[in-house]
Amino acid sequence: MQSVNPHSQQQFASYDPYDDSQVERLITAADGAFQGWRGTSFAARAALMRAAARVLRRRAEELAALMAAEMGKVLKDGVAEIGKCADCCDFYADNAEKFLADRRIATDAAHSYVACDPLGVILAVMPWNFPFWQVFRFAAPSLMAGNVGLLKHASNVCGCALAIQDIFEQAGFPPHVFTTLLVEGSRVEPIIRHRLVRAVTLTGSTPAGRSVAGIAGSELKKSVLELGGSDAYIVLEDADLALAVQTCVKSRLVNGGQSCIAAKRFIVVRPVLEEFTRRYVEAFNAVRIGEPTDAQSDFRPMARLDLRDEVHAQVCKSVAQGALLLTGGTIPDLPGAYYPPTVLGGVRPGMTAFDEEIFGPVAAIIAADDEAHAIALANRSDFGLGSALFTSDKAKADRIARQIDAGCVFVNALVKSDARLPFGGVKHSGYGRELSSFGIQEFVNIKTVYHAAASKT
Ligand code: NAP
Repeated sequence: MQSVNPHSQQQFASYDPYDDSQVERLITAADGAFQGWRGTSFAARAALMRAAARVLRRRAEELAALMAAEMGKVLKDGVAEIGKCADCCDFYADNAEKFLADRRIATDAAHSYVACDPLGVILAVMPWNFPFWQVFRFAAPSLMAGNVGLLKHASNVCGCALAIQDIFEQAGFPPHVFTTLLVEGSRVEPIIRHRLVRAVTLTGSTPAGRSVAGIAGSELKKSVLELGGSDAYIVLEDADLALAVQTCVKSRLVNGGQSCIAAKRFIVVRPVLEEFTRRYVEAFNAVRIGEPTDAQSDFRPMARLDLRDEVHAQVCKSVAQGALLLTGGTIPDLPGAYYPPTVLGGVRPGMTAFDEEIFGPVAAIIAADDEAHAIALANRSDFGLGSALFTSDKAKADRIARQIDAGCVFVNALVKSDARLPFGGVKHSGYGRELSSFGIQEFVNIKTVYHAAASKT
């Protein structure tokens, strides 16, 4: 398993995958750790989770440099990602006990209540695009609930994967409460099937989700899937166009265009289509592309050459299907995995740029005849992760929000995750929720406890 710098294409680290006996030993050790961890108090877990937050904040610069080297994240974005992980740790340290508190329910019993008990060893299969945030938003609630975590991270970010285990160890968590397993995707199946692994969560592509869910289903194990998206941003005639363009540009280019909740389809009603497109292309052309470690650059290489080539193939296919290449679309003559911010106009259903997720800096602009047509186009997708809506009419926004098939609708704002709000999708974007009180309840045994009324003698 190799770490290759996306800018230079130099390999700078390699890791031997763990062999089967090592994996077996670590799963058994994780289960052993669970037997002690499940009995700890929320206060004890919270103290350790706050310590993890402190370790993260102290090591932010170093961890951001690791992300820049392994998957090309711009340094300032890496520092922000680590800060968000630390905030998530604090959030669950503060709230887990409240979210999972016993709930008394009046029945014919003398006393009946619902308790949320931990499940045990939970496997997390994670992607490289937010190598810390994706993991912490699973780990903070799961560990606070009393579960223990096994991480199978993406093969190109082994350094980040090991750093995360190290952070929990430095914070003082007992050994094996959080364990990184260096294994390739092809070796996930026996881990899911392992009798001591109780559930699995995967953040990644729809095909990987389908495979993991199938295996988990055949073992009758719970799964949570956070998969791809092709988020629609609807721009209506009464939108603040400057805000819409600025937000739509930012959301498409976040993390080099490699975010599940990046805006991907821009559905614009005809009266403002021409002006929106002109300003959008202008903004894309002004983006400064550079090395992840260059403070002046707003844009960086993609994470891997194969991913860049896949994006380019999708662009070429869309153009062959009739989409208009308005800017970008040419691979630059650089060694790194660079792809220029690219805008496609005249995109319609049936074209690759409409039907598939493009996981790179490519915007698809789609014309809508009116509001109803815009909603229909937004929903005409296999995906349903995020969405956004630009209008100055609040009542209209609320009405439209309820008609969109997605896990969230942001009005006049960029779609983002927030520890206080549930995050997840519908359709091929997956199922289950992360974050907030909903996320922490995914991997618990919701248990009924019933005390019979004292019998009359
Ligand atoms: P990916 O290829 O699906 O990889 C994600 C993880 O799954 C990696 O750890 C990978 O391991 C593993 N994996 C791949 N195929 C597998 C299989 N058949 N069985 C078990 N594990 C498997 O996705 P990616 O290219 O890294 O990430 C991009 C995708 O993730 C996009 O579709 C994006 O939208 C989605 N994503 C979704 C969210 C969300 O919250 N909804 C967040 C971020 C990303 P290897 O690296 O060893 O192959």
